[in-house]
Amino acid sequence: MPDMTDHPNQLLINGEFRDAAAGATFTAQDPARGAELATVARAGTEDVDAAVAAAREALTGAWAKTAPAKRSRMLNRLAQLIDERTDEIAELESRNVGKAKWQCAAEVKVAVSTLELFAGTAQHLYGRSHVVNPSVVTYTLREPVGVVGAIIPWNYPFMMAAWKVAPALAAGNTLVLKPASATPMSALLLGQLALEAGIPAGVLNVVPGPGGEVGEAIATHPGVDKVAFTGETGTGRRIAEAAASTLKRVSLELGGKSPNIVFGDADIEAAVLGSLWAIYYAAGQSCEARSRILVEDDAYDDFASAFAERAKGLSVGDPLAAETKVGSLISRAHADKVRGFIDIGLEDGGELLAGGREVDGLGDGLDPDAFVPPTVIGGVANDARICQEEVFGPVVTLTRFGDEAEAVKLANDVRYGLAATVWTGDGSRGHRLAQRIHAGAVGINTPFIAFPGVPFGGLKESGYGREQALESLDLYTETKAVLQNTSPKPINPLGV
Ligand code: NAD
Repeated sequence: MPDMTDHPNQLLINGEFRDAAAGATFTAQDPARGAELATVARAGTEDVDAAVAAAREALTGAWAKTAPAKRSRMLNRLAQLIDERTDEIAELESRNVGKAKWQCAAEVKVAVSTLELFAGTAQHLYGRSHVVNPSVVTYTLREPVGVVGAIIPWNYPFMMAAWKVAPALAAGNTLVLKPASATPMSALLLGQLALEAGIPAGVLNVVPGPGGEVGEAIATHPGVDKVAFTGETGTGRRIAEAAASTLKRVSLELGGKSPNIVFGDADIEAAVLGSLWAIYYAAGQSCEARSRILVEDDAYDDFASAFAERAKGLSVGDPLAAETKVGSLISRAHADKVRGFIDIGLEDGGELLAGGREVDGLGDGLDPDAFVPPTVIGGVANDARICQEEVFGPVVTLTRFGDEAEAVKLANDVRYGLAATVWTGDGSRGHRLAQRIHAGAVGINTPFIAFPGVPFGGLKESGYGREQALESLDLYTETKAVLQNTSPKPINPLGV
């Protein structure tokens, strides 16, 4: 086990790192090496109660007394501390997720920018004023929703935490943050850095533990006012149901099966390079992965052969190595599931153009069962299971279309609606499709759709709510109307 003694591994409740009330622990893994990474305290419902109590206390106590300008300074300070420790956080994340370290470092920088973005908003949460009639003036206050239960997945643990923590704190909320049980390490470190940045005890509490117990306890807890969730669509549905019992506010960032549409008039080389990133970044374990490539008939053969060649050339291996483009998956069990999808795709008539079940030439000390090579399955119909279900691995399908209308139909013919990319040399066509595709974000000749400041979130079964942009503040504030009678005469509505 590498030396993890510098990193927090206990629950963070009310500003203190402590063992779970029941003394339980679990082991965080280094999936690429098939090794144990650290022993971590495992929260239970009693710990959730304590974390919620601390968050409630801080909500009306220390955090309510912290002026917006000061909150802004603290968030900027937190961003700075994270920035200074980028390499360390990236290595921790890479070891725990199996993702290439340079990608983890890029995500740490996104977390920094996200905190800076929302630090700037803390002092600009304005309401509006209005003269209703000569006797009534009204203004609105934007108040924090309250205690936010943030439940996040394992694929971008640090960045996803920042996406929720930054707007929630900027708007004056307090949090109970639950990282995925596979990836508790970086969220605990974020909690430690928040304390170092001067954010008061109890404002950010971190409780790693299993979703079915700790996540469920957060979603049903009467002391939690809102749940901000990122994860699978099925889990999101369960959380929305659980949260309904206490009518909590809920925002859901869920799964995807996003299309990547290549027209014959596109710059095919640019489309190939961008499409590689759009599926193989994070070994395909991205909600926004463009996992269905739709290619116009006349470009299909050229695109398919160029894309498959490049996919074969991507280096798969040690996540800590600078040249690695594709690291391991989160676990052997998840890699098995992805391999199962490759079988399903081939049974459904797909043709294997690159990759497959096994990786060749992995370095020493790595667990081959946790890796899946960049895989391309050509000639699949859009209604095949592999085109409809989220694989969440480095597997992409290629499907032909005849014309623009068919491209739109195939792009939308799926239950998800998170992201899309359109590759075309016709500028007006890009914008035309942007209006017709059912997705929260559409890139035209670019695979990148997530930047601090740009709203990120889904339609249909990809969830609701927008993160990483000013719209997110609506998820973390309630609007209160205040009305003032300005008439010199008494109000006598009953005419008595
Ligand atoms: P998951 O749904 O299994 O788990 C997500 C979180 O929910 C974890 O912390 C987990 O412990 C918790 N959880 C599980 N069951 C729960 C329950 N019954 N009640 C409360 N909490 C519970 O998802 P995952 O496997 O960790 O992550 C992968 C999924 O996340 C994919 O579907 C991916 O598309 C999605 N994702 C979406 C976005 C987005 O912004 N739309 C971003 C990243 C990941």
